[in-house]
Amino acid sequence: MNTMRQGPATPRRRGGFRWWVLILFALYAGYYWFSNQQDAAFTGRTQLISSDPQQEAAMGLQAYRQILSESNVVTQGQLPGQVRDIAARLIQVGPRVEADLAAARGVKPSIQWNAFDWDVSVIQSDQANAFCLPGGKIAVYTGIIPVAQNLDALAAIMGHEIAHALLRHSAERMAQQKLAQIGSMATGMAVSDMDPQQQRAVMAVMGAGAQYGMLLPFSREHESEADEVGLMLAAAACYDPREAIGLWQRMGQLSAGQAPPEFMSTHPSGETRIARLQQLMPRALEIRQAYCGN
Ligand SMILES: [Zn+2]
Repeated sequence: MNTMRQGPATPRRRGGFRWWVLILFALYAGYYWFSNQQDAAFTGRTQLISSDPQQEAAMGLQAYRQILSESNVVTQGQLPGQVRDIAARLIQVGPRVEADLAAARGVKPSIQWNAFDWDVSVIQSDQANAFCLPGGKIAVYTGIIPVAQNLDALAAIMGHEIAHALLRHSAERMAQQKLAQIGSMATGMAVSDMDPQQQRAVMAVMGAGAQYGMLLPFSREHESEADEVGLMLAAAACYDPREAIGLWQRMGQLSAGQAPPEFMSTHPSGETRIARLQQLMPRALEIRQAYCGN
């Protein structure tokens, strides 16, 4: 006989899975989707975003200030000027590239360019890293320079990062994570009457489902969008887009080591990535021809 029973003295009868909670969640998720979706310029893909560009820019600015205050910002030498020059050229062609890519896909341009207040910094660091925060705050870490090797490849990296910001990928990820959180809460409620072992099993399956079914493919999609748009920006700004191939190959070799740098953990460079870039190359060279005449 079990005398060491845990829980209430008069045990409640264990129930099953509460489907109605998940049905409510599905209805909410549907509402959330339809009330927050918008078309991504450049890509024609429908995005789920629940913030506005001004809010995102404010968050980006705060993060930027925080990072710069904790970093060694490079002001001497050639590099800061070179990086600023690349950024200026990429940003300058942005609206025209957006119009061209949107027209090619039969969608309307939708980027709120005035929500971006661009700034560029070079950060002294061993990390092979670069980013562009929402609202247009860009940083290039000196550790990525040996991997880039030349200004054309650096333009491909910066174009990629700027594309993430233009396409509001982090806003999309925030909206998706919010939905995943609410989904996880709903699952918690749905299983709260089941026995703890079953609860854990259901939560694990649902968690893995959200991770591998939703968030991970999503980040792959963001990567390939940023690759494409970044490549076109670099080409339109008269950089050699072909340098992007060698760049991502070098990135791949870097990540083959024991501890991949931070940038690589979010930017895995597989053969699919290279193959896709090669596929996009004729279009990139066409754009370079049209914008730069060579
Ligand atoms: Zn990326």
